[in-house]
Amino acid sequence: MRSPCFNPLCTSDRICPGHQKPLKFRLCGGLQKGLPFCFQDKEPVMNTHLMHNYAPLPVTFEKGEGAWLWDNKGQKYLDALSGVAVCGLGHAHPAVAEALCAQARTLIHTSNWYHIEHQETLAQKLTALAGMERVFFGNSGAEANEAAIKLARLYGHQKDISNPAIIVMEGSFHGRTMATLTATGNRKVQAGFEPLVQGFVRAPFDDLAALETIAQNNSDVVAVLVEPIIGEGGILIPAEDYLDGIRKLCDDNGWLMILDEIQTGIGRTGHWFAFQHSNSTPDIMTLAKGLGNGVPIGACLAKGVAAELFQPGHHGSTYGGNPLVCATALAVIETLEKEQLNQRVRQLGETMLADFKTALTDVEGIVDIRGLGLMLAIELERPCGEILQQALDAGLLLNVTADNVVRLLPPLIISDDEAEQIITITCDLIKNFLSTPSA
Ligand code: PLP
Repeated sequence: MRSPCFNPLCTSDRICPGHQKPLKFRLCGGLQKGLPFCFQDKEPVMNTHLMHNYAPLPVTFEKGEGAWLWDNKGQKYLDALSGVAVCGLGHAHPAVAEALCAQARTLIHTSNWYHIEHQETLAQKLTALAGMERVFFGNSGAEANEAAIKLARLYGHQKDISNPAIIVMEGSFHGRTMATLTATGNRKVQAGFEPLVQGFVRAPFDDLAALETIAQNNSDVVAVLVEPIIGEGGILIPAEDYLDGIRKLCDDNGWLMILDEIQTGIGRTGHWFAFQHSNSTPDIMTLAKGLGNGVPIGACLAKGVAAELFQPGHHGSTYGGNPLVCATALAVIETLEKEQLNQRVRQLGETMLADFKTALTDVEGIVDIRGLGLMLAIELERPCGEILQQALDAGLLLNVTADNVVRLLPPLIISDDEAEQIITITCDLIKNFLSTPSA
């Protein structure tokens, strides 16, 4: 059977080595990104009532516990992805479940028309951890970034700049709303959705000289928006002085420094926030993913002038920061603190990185092995989307991003033994993949 790619723009003509049938790329965004999928092997999970914007792997999970998931056939999987850096405390963590249930039994939602105590408490906690002053709560990462973009524009207008521009990075990912996909430095995310939003200037990542050149030539710039480590774009870790360099440039030019910590925040890299590996604090920082451990929440934190920009009527969200999500996020933070997970993540991340390097030393076809905390990447010299399905077959959930980067974002609570299992299975998969000639 030859089944078409879900995306009509996909023109893949690669052949499945097992079946000698065409492989089509799922999740390809029209440009062959993501997972090549042999339709001989497994039927895609098709649901006639859902739009085709996702192309899920053929597995349905029914329950989870810690770093483990079980599918509807009783098969067990080790989760090295955490729902893409979301479930830092793993699945069904008792403290999260308890906070969620207790709050659901008491009060789920009122409205931002009224004072919400949990919001205040969570905002106080987050600002204390981050050295920031105020928070806006939304429901997702994209929404948190939208708030940051709106703050930057208000800031620009306050300075009498009528077309304020934000510097954004090549290779970045900031979300799927119109402004955030425009900010995203990946044409595949933008293709088909033109006209894009105005007011963004693009620069290469990890290139302070490029930012300096923009500073000299563009007086409309009001802010820099950057991921401390590029996540979706392949776990790209900049030079150690990069964030400090951006901070200095922002100070010298009167720009706001905006950090998208949606993937790196809440302990993922071994500090509460990745910027805490540097000496600089941003003016604005966005969070989501790990903050709710699966409960939808986004947060835009600000300090200084940026914290005072929003006035009543400027921005809002019906659900943002409701009692249910805030009570859960507070439980997430308290648990991370109680279990001292930042320390643990720093130590385990270093061990895992070293173990990957040892296990894959001299393996031909590996370009780089890198990571910080439990944000780990093995870059291969060729696209390796098929590893996703092979990992699933081997009972492991991981991810391939930027075509050729195996990405691991395990729960922060994994044991040494689980970490070892992740390393063993992943290395076997990679060695096996690289020993098979490309189609
Ligand atoms: N920013 C970064 C760095 C991300 O990794 C993501 C999601 O992967 C987003 C923004 C968008 O978050 P959401 O999918 O919650 O809108």
